[in-house]
Amino acid sequence: MNKRKLKARQNRFVCPICHLELHMHDVDENGLVVCPVCGAVLEVADSNGHKIPVVHDVEIKRPQPMFRLHTIATHFSIGLMPLSLLSQVIAFILYIYDGGAFVQKSVEFEWIGYWLLMISFIGGLATFLTGYVDWKRKYRGRTYTIITKKIRLSIVMFVFLAVALLLRTMAEPGFSLIYSLYFVSQVVSLGLIAAIGHYGGFLVYGK
Ligand SMILES: [Zn+2]
Repeated sequence: MNKRKLKARQNRFVCPICHLELHMHDVDENGLVVCPVCGAVLEVADSNGHKIPVVHDVEIKRPQPMFRLHTIATHFSIGLMPLSLLSQVIAFILYIYDGGAFVQKSVEFEWIGYWLLMISFIGGLATFLTGYVDWKRKYRGRTYTIITKKIRLSIVMFVFLAVALLLRTMAEPGFSLIYSLYFVSQVVSLGLIAAIGHYGGFLVYGK
């Protein structure tokens, strides 16, 4: 293992109660951190470079997210984006099948794909907003590496999605550079949203 990796590993520790992996950046100036999953207040001691978390207290009053809105909202984007891509792939299969002409059926599938993508984008914004509210309420706006990572990835994802939607308004469907970039931006967004959801899973299940 190289030095950088070793150092990165040394900066991490695992909550002894729920096994969520936390980072030294999550610890406040008093050497304390509240585990975002189980609410244990951990004091992190250093022993020869090894971080040893000790359960110090438990956060008793913890506001819960309202109606699990964040997890509900995420399905609009995480669920519709693959459907949008599928619709566009079907449009292209029909396009090739019809000998390279965009006839009614392929136009309709392409259009459905575009609108599903638009709904994913709006759903994504709602998801981001509910996630932000949860962070301020449930986690009291404390900085956690995992949440910072999710926020950063979300911003990158929105940029790719916005670029995709913009490209779609610029290009006629078909084999063109702009239209290919439209498709690529969507695939990148889908990968990013999967990663954001994957990190979100740690905040639900621990690790
Ligand atoms: Zn925990």
